[in-house]
Amino acid sequence: MCGIVGYVGAGQAVDFLIHGLHRLEYRGYDSAGVAVIGQDGQIHVVKTAGRIAALEELLAKQPLTGRIGIGHTRWATHGPATDANAHPHLGGNGAVAVVHNGVIENYESLRARLEAEGYRFRSATDTEAIAHLIAEAVRTATGNGKGPAPLDELIQAVQAALAQLQGTYGLAMLFRDWPDLILAARRGSPLIIGVGQKEHFVSSDPSSLIGYTDKIVALADHELAVLTADGVRVVHRDHGHINPSVQVLDWSAAEVSRGGYPHYMLKEIFEQPESIRNTMRGRLDWDEATARFGGLNLSPQELRRVRRIVFTGCGTSWHAGLVGEYLIETLARLPVEVEYASELRYRNPPLENDTLLFAITQSGETADTLAALREMKRKGLPTLAICNVVGSSIAAEADGGVYLHAGPEIGVASTKAYTCQCTVLVLLALYFGRLRHLGFDDGLRILEHLQQLPDRVSDALQTSPQVREIAEKYASSEHFLYLGRHFNFPTALEGALKMKEISYIHAEGYPAAEMKHGPIALVDRQTPSVFLMPQGAVYDKVLSNLQEIKARGGPVIAVVCRGDRKAAQLADDVIEIPAVPEFLQPIVSVVPLQLLAYYTAVARGCDVDKPRNLAKSVTVE
Ligand code: GLU
Repeated sequence: MCGIVGYVGAGQAVDFLIHGLHRLEYRGYDSAGVAVIGQDGQIHVVKTAGRIAALEELLAKQPLTGRIGIGHTRWATHGPATDANAHPHLGGNGAVAVVHNGVIENYESLRARLEAEGYRFRSATDTEAIAHLIAEAVRTATGNGKGPAPLDELIQAVQAALAQLQGTYGLAMLFRDWPDLILAARRGSPLIIGVGQKEHFVSSDPSSLIGYTDKIVALADHELAVLTADGVRVVHRDHGHINPSVQVLDWSAAEVSRGGYPHYMLKEIFEQPESIRNTMRGRLDWDEATARFGGLNLSPQELRRVRRIVFTGCGTSWHAGLVGEYLIETLARLPVEVEYASELRYRNPPLENDTLLFAITQSGETADTLAALREMKRKGLPTLAICNVVGSSIAAEADGGVYLHAGPEIGVASTKAYTCQCTVLVLLALYFGRLRHLGFDDGLRILEHLQQLPDRVSDALQTSPQVREIAEKYASSEHFLYLGRHFNFPTALEGALKMKEISYIHAEGYPAAEMKHGPIALVDRQTPSVFLMPQGAVYDKVLSNLQEIKARGGPVIAVVCRGDRKAAQLADDVIEIPAVPEFLQPIVSVVPLQLLAYYTAVARGCDVDKPRNLAKSVTVE
């Protein structure tokens, strides 16, 4: 959550800062601000509650010039979204400026101590305590104002201040007395350094750097970077100076622009055939009738010994885990459990030696998932990641994993990352199945269906105009129910989540048969039920459930295979999707639900890409 940017070089810092904040706005957008060291050697701050556009308006009235600066777009954790709480925060009467992503758990005691020492707090944030703490440490190191100390002393002073923090941080800092450098430090929140020609950047994620540089250094926990126009130095808390490894970023500018679509979410929904193709590229092994992965880092012999799989994740990624459960249990006959990452970490379940953990995450930075992964690693389990962002914390800390290659996902409500996660899970189910009981022919059949999957998703996207009409018809509803069984039960949950996230309509997903055990009491003429009922083993059962809802006057939207007359006669509205085998239905049947949520949110005038209270990449617990 939250976006951090920083610039030092020959250009005007504000130009990159504003560009970068726009790119990172999806990470948090309740307030924004920048700090720049001006010609006069002072740190100047402009910040405001609201979006980046509001910050730009302010900057038009109060321009900031300078070649070094930091910026922030906030997702509040401590204190409401006000001008005062917006970052950057100043410490030591303007000696230090700080932008922060994360949560400082001991900020109350730090604040009490600092206030007792005479520091005046101007905000309700936990971040301001960091600013004062760093100012205090720097002042002590420099002999209480006797002029700037050598750089090594500054670094030590900042490290000593950071050592007092409990919780998580990604930080970028400016110092009035060192006007040529930015310090960036992290523990638990992502930070990327961009390496340019006589200019350096810092950013919460690489998307803001596209067009500026393709060389990045991903900072790890307990590392602190010193950025000047000419270079980057990285110092680790325990290991001292280290050689940063520079990676090359292969995201293109087109991938992070809206490309003619009104919203990122719609663009990303329509990118799904291509992103699924990219996920599968190089991974369909026709010779062995299985899937092929580059980075599992576990041998077939080791994987063959696995007797139980645990999927963990949050939100949409947790739903992908549920899809994985159906897939692996059906195709590989391995027992699977799916755990919310936030629960897995503290539940302390008994785990046998032959258990394999998969952490599922789009960003690779989800704080709860990272914490669960660390806890499972500590217990000695092999861990693998299914994630989208190369070089992210979870990708780095897992023993191995599978990248989605979905391209950057900017819309806060996940769409293409979800279907790519599900695609990876089909590939894994095939792989584990082939290690165990699935024969060569079975493997080939699965590969053939997979190869056609992008085209089937394209067919499902053809429902868009019709789904739009249905969305407009029901847009004033206050409640929605989503019902599906078997492979389509996780899809019901995901459809309901999409609707909640962006249209703010209360929506619930259930296994269709579960209706009778309580939720059917909610059914009335104003509450539409979305039935997921493509052809399959439970089709007739779901049809009966549909009739139960109709008998009680509830409107029904049925997502069915093309040509399903039975459902068409009963339902008020029908969305026809192409037929695919049951194990691929979650990937195809979710498409009209993504569109339904999208068009409903648009019809209700909601801000689709930046929904209320949410942010992408949830880096706080
Ligand atoms: N905890 C800080 C605040 O509430 C930073 C939140 C963020 O990551 O945006 O201001």
